[in-house]
Parts: sequence; C-alpha cells; structure tokens
Amino acid sequence: MKTRAENYSSELIERRWLSDRSFEITLEKPTAFEYLAGQWIRLTQDPVERDYTLVTAPTDPNLALCIRNIEGGILVPRLGHAPIGTRFNFSGPQGYFTFKPSRRPAVFVATGTGVAPFVSMARSGVTGFTLLHGVCTAADFYYASVFKSTAKHYIPCLSESHASPKDVFHGRVTDFLYKNLAPGRYDFYLCGRREMIRDVTICVDEKFPDSLVFTEIFF
Ligand SMILES: Cc1cc2nc3c(=O)[nH]c(=O)nc-3n(C[C@H](O)[C@H](O)[C@H](O)COP(=O)(O)OP(=O)(O)OC[C@H]3O[C@@H](n4cnc5c(N)ncnc54)[C@H](O)[C@@H]3O)c2cc1C
Repeated sequence: MKTRAENYSSELIERRWLSDRSFEITLEKPTAFEYLAGQWIRLTQDPVERDYTLVTAPTDPNLALCIRNIEGGILVPRLGHAPIGTRFNFSGPQGYFTFKPSRRPAVFVATGTGVAPFVSMARSGVTGFTLLHGVCTAADFYYASVFKSTAKHYIPCLSESHASPKDVFHGRVTDFLYKNLAPGRYDFYLCGRREMIRDVTICVDEKFPDSLVFTEIFF
C-alpha cells in the first residue's frame, strides 16, 4: 500500500442527508487511491483546505464522507450545495487513527461526526468494541445500524435533549464512563471535539489507569 499522501481529483456522485445537521457525500474513488480505515483526506478548493475522515471501508468501490452542516462555515456550504458531477481535488490518505488490535477491550468514544473513523473500522470488519456516540439530538445517531451488528455495546448518549428515547443514555459520554464503565484497562479511541477528548482523558487518568488512549481532534 502507498504510504505517501498524493493528489487526486474526484467527482461528486451522491449527497444524502443523514439529519438536518449532517450529510454524507460520495466521491468516485480514483483507481490508484488506497487507505486504511480511520484515515482522512484533505479536500482543497483554492485557497481553502479542510480534512475529512472516510466512512467507507477501504475495499468499497467509492469514497464517502460524513459532514456536519455548518451554515457559517467556509467549505461545508460548498460541499452541501455543489451540483452532482462537481470535481473536487484532494490529497491523502493521512493519519494514524487506525485500529490496533490488542488484548485490552476497545472503547470507542465519539462526538457528532467524530463517529466517522469508527464507521469505517466497523465496515472493515472490526467488531466486539464498545462505542459511545455523544450527540445533541436523537436524529444524529446516524450509522446506528452499522454498530448494532458490529459493536459489543453500542451506547448512544444524548447530551442536551430533555426527551429520553428508550435505549439511550441521557448525559455526556464522560458521565457514562464515570458512572457505568467497569474499572479496568482499556484501549480508548477518542474522536471529535477537543473538549470531549480533554475531559475523557482526565476521566481515564482518574478511573482507568494503565489504559491506552488514541485521539483524533476534529475541531
Ligand atoms: C483530522 C480531521 C478530520 C476531520 N474529519 C471531519 C469529518 O469527518 N467530518 C466533519 O464534518 N468534519 C471533519 N473535520 C473538520 C473539518 O476539517 C472542517 O473543520 C469543518 O468541516 C468546518 O469547515 P468549514 O470550512 O466549513 O468551516 P470553518 O469556517 O473552518 O469552521 C466553522 C466552525 O465549525 C466548527 N467545526 C469544525 N468541524 C466541526 C464538526 N465536525 N462539527 C461541529 N463543528 C465543527 C469550527 O470549530 C468552527 O467554529 C475534521 C478535521 C480534522 C482536523
């Protein structure tokens, strides 16, 4: 597999809204492009460059990205409105946030679109993990069906909504870890907001000493 990031051009072939806050775009996969589950690409639209983690498995025929709809953003509105057929330049693959099998149980923790690398890992055959996905509204538990068949424990966490749908933890992912995860040594994989990663790292130091922590900060 090529390990150096290279430049590619790719056509937008589909856009699918996952909720009113997030959408998925599908790009054609350049023949020479290879990547590992958990890696990201850098989309460029002069002079803007933004990074996005692939949600597809490396063996899938196309490339897909899960994108938070940020109306005041610079690149996201272009991705949300570009006509099908638009060409985008990108470079990649990049990143080291890939699954490293070990004897310790894996605990994946995501906020919002930070779930992206875990979707790719699950679609690539990683199973038996615990996944906590923290969002503000239940509509943002996109990809739940992927995890229901691959995770040992799939724990959707609603941080803000006052409604409490069944089978949902009401609170932040850190609340769940403090209250509900049994003491032990784990491999934690954290992806999403910087604040979540800081808070979970503090929680791991306090409650799960000798665990490993891998992180990917989106913003
Ligand atoms: C390694 C890496 C991988 C990333 N993967 C993804 C991904 O798979 N999906 C994705 O949506 N974003 C991802 N991002 C964030 C992405 O690169 C952009 O920052 C984001 O899309 C905003 O770009 P923009 O130009 O539209 O807005 P900007 O003008 O750059 O930012 C607008 C605001 O949006 C906030 N913001 C940025 N990303 C998010 C987010 N995901 N959710 C909520 N608020 C956010 C910023 O803090 C800022 O306040 C990733 C970032 C990194 C570093």
